[in-house]
Amino acid sequence: MVLHIPFDNSYAQLGSGFFTKQSPEPAIAPSLIAFNLPLADLLQVTGNDRAEMAEVFSGKQIPAGADPLAQAYAGHQFGNFNPQLGDGRALLLGEVLGRDGKRYDIQLKGSGRTPYSRQGDGKAWLGPVLREYVISEAMHALGVPTTRTLAAVATGETVWREGGLPGAVLTRVASSHLRVGTFQYFAARGETEALKKLTAYAIQRHYPQARGALELLRAVRDAQAGLIAAWMSVGFIHGVMNTDNCSISGETIDYGPCAFMDQYRADQVFSSIDRMGRYAFANQPKIAVWNLAQLATALIQQLDNPQEAVEEATAIIHAMPSLIEVEWLRLFRRKIGLETIATGDLELISDLLQVMSEGEADFTNIFRALAEGTAVEQFKDPTGFEAWQSRWMKRRQVEQNAEAIMQASNPVYIPRNHKIEEMIGTAVAGDFTLFERMGQVLQTPYVEQDGAEDLRRPPEPNEVVRATFCGT
Ligand code: AMP
Ligand code: MG
Repeated sequence: MVLHIPFDNSYAQLGSGFFTKQSPEPAIAPSLIAFNLPLADLLQVTGNDRAEMAEVFSGKQIPAGADPLAQAYAGHQFGNFNPQLGDGRALLLGEVLGRDGKRYDIQLKGSGRTPYSRQGDGKAWLGPVLREYVISEAMHALGVPTTRTLAAVATGETVWREGGLPGAVLTRVASSHLRVGTFQYFAARGETEALKKLTAYAIQRHYPQARGALELLRAVRDAQAGLIAAWMSVGFIHGVMNTDNCSISGETIDYGPCAFMDQYRADQVFSSIDRMGRYAFANQPKIAVWNLAQLATALIQQLDNPQEAVEEATAIIHAMPSLIEVEWLRLFRRKIGLETIATGDLELISDLLQVMSEGEADFTNIFRALAEGTAVEQFKDPTGFEAWQSRWMKRRQVEQNAEAIMQASNPVYIPRNHKIEEMIGTAVAGDFTLFERMGQVLQTPYVEQDGAEDLRRPPEPNEVVRATFCGT
């Protein structure tokens, strides 16, 4: 069956200031590594010819209705403003309307240079492509808003990083690729008309109920607050929360040096480039607020009375920390089996995290073990945990469904760093068994599965991954 993608493109109609049209570089010998059938079904993408899919999802063949372009954006990278970033190794093929009635971008990542590539080659290698595939799909199954992965293709080319590595292209699906940095791009250039056009487009696409720029700001705040709380609840560290990696839709985007924590540490950092710990685990809520303030600064510039708007925008931003905390508390209450609300819950949860931190406990496994009644066995010295447990038991007395709630809120499996590394190593050597098995098991992360014990186990000391890399 010939591949069919029902394109319905809207971003391309915004005009030439928003992007540069660009064709992908044709891959030499593309071969399909993986194709996400359930996602294809949602997007109404049909076809079963693997050779054709490899050509389309590497950029060698441009499918009917596609209109490839690289999007322009700016962004604060580690706090420093860069007025010109843009898709340096990504191309938007176009958009489709899913079965759910929602609009989705289909984008190739790693298909060659664009006018925004700067010194980069526009390529990706197999490691980050498989990493993003597994982690983004795991995030989706965990219930965290995220971009998704439709396909991974090996290009048959060598990509040069520290040495030669096998090239690959990832097909990313997002409810859009509008970023805080997209707004900053036009604001920094003083292009007020374009900023207005972008604002209207973002409202129509994501928050049709919003009236004007400040209501858009409020809607993005709410979406981002929910996202950050969700990250915290599964121990996810994004690693590069630059404003260009902060999506307007509130989806997790730009999987680079991200990682899930094994051992709980509030100040955990994995990214090798995050030397100051700006994007450490517990800093993520603060950074999300900072990013929202940058969006506000950009949005305000289109208003007739920017001075007046500052006050309202400030109030919108100032409300964000407590919104994150409310959602965080709701999620963590569920993680310890609580449906009712009582004063002292915040302290109870914070004290558990403190006990976990002192006991060097595995974040995912302790929470899961609470449901299974085996948490005490996981501490070398259980004294602190036992004291906490007796407080918790008392608090739990009013709860009806504690175990069921905990099992639905505490995953058995997360994409652990050391397994991701092992998976990349075996895939580079030509064996995709672990890649496929991780994908399979992580589709239902809240359900214990036979033969997946290795994916549940924390790393041995010699397996611990201490640093992750953008690796693009
Ligand atoms: P990221 O860290 O993935 O958010 O990327 C930051 C910026 O660098 C974006 O504008 C990317 O498009 C660009 N970039 C990253 N890697 C490459 C590459 N290999 N070639 C060209 N541009 C790149
Ligand atoms: Mg980025």
